[in-house]
Amino acid sequence: MDTFKPRPAAFNHLKRNLTTFLPGFCQLCGTTCPHPGGSRQLPHDLCDSCYQTLPWIDCACHCCGLPLPPGSSTSLCGQCLKHPPAFNLTIAPLRYTAPLSRLITDFKYRGKLPSGQLLGELLANEVSDYYLFEPDLLIPEMIIPVPLHWQRFWRRGFNQAQELARQISKRLDIPCNHRALKRQLHTPMQQSLDRQQRQRNLRKAFVVTAPTIIKQRRIALLDDVVTTTATAREISNLLLANGAQEVHIWALARTAADD
Ligand SMILES: [Zn+2]
Ligand SMILES: [Zn+2]
Repeated sequence: MDTFKPRPAAFNHLKRNLTTFLPGFCQLCGTTCPHPGGSRQLPHDLCDSCYQTLPWIDCACHCCGLPLPPGSSTSLCGQCLKHPPAFNLTIAPLRYTAPLSRLITDFKYRGKLPSGQLLGELLANEVSDYYLFEPDLLIPEMIIPVPLHWQRFWRRGFNQAQELARQISKRLDIPCNHRALKRQLHTPMQQSLDRQQRQRNLRKAFVVTAPTIIKQRRIALLDDVVTTTATAREISNLLLANGAQEVHIWALARTAADD
């Protein structure tokens, strides 16, 4: 006999609200975190001290988010000056190093959902602050997560970018559309390839499946980590060619060397 009974929506709602008021446990050091409050909103399961020691990027390329040396006199990196990408800006507040990389690995490859929850909260806070402090900049009207090919989706069981996008969509009240774009080619893991190979590898890898939805829209393209910007460049070109108005890149982390 099937004894499984789905929990009523009211239970989930109550649990979510209770969790907000109960103390959390820092996912990095295990100490009890008080309920977030005060002047800055911290993710529920991250203590103040671990939050401070995350690998925040202080100075970055205004366009692709590449970390630049502190006090750098230029606002753009060499690559963006030489080959300006089609996207307008990148919000990637952290370097892809420990301990952030551990949280991302736990979420992405070990399916640890609380880590995904924490990462989603972190990114939502940073995105919301970014537009708050840039009042002339209009926030995107739609979030599109970078899609996985169905084979990789099937193996992993979920798309990490889609999960983050879903959370941020709810937090910022911006619709998320994970069906507007499809990955039609199963490409080898990008990590082992150099810049040119990556760009070649991605040619025709994506296709816009719902052009009317993106027409004249400001799109936030969301991924967990930006490495060489090859994916961001390829998809931005595609979205703009299909009528999108502008593309902003949102990611948790940026690798330090744009190699
Ligand atoms: Zn901690
Ligand atoms: Zn750049």
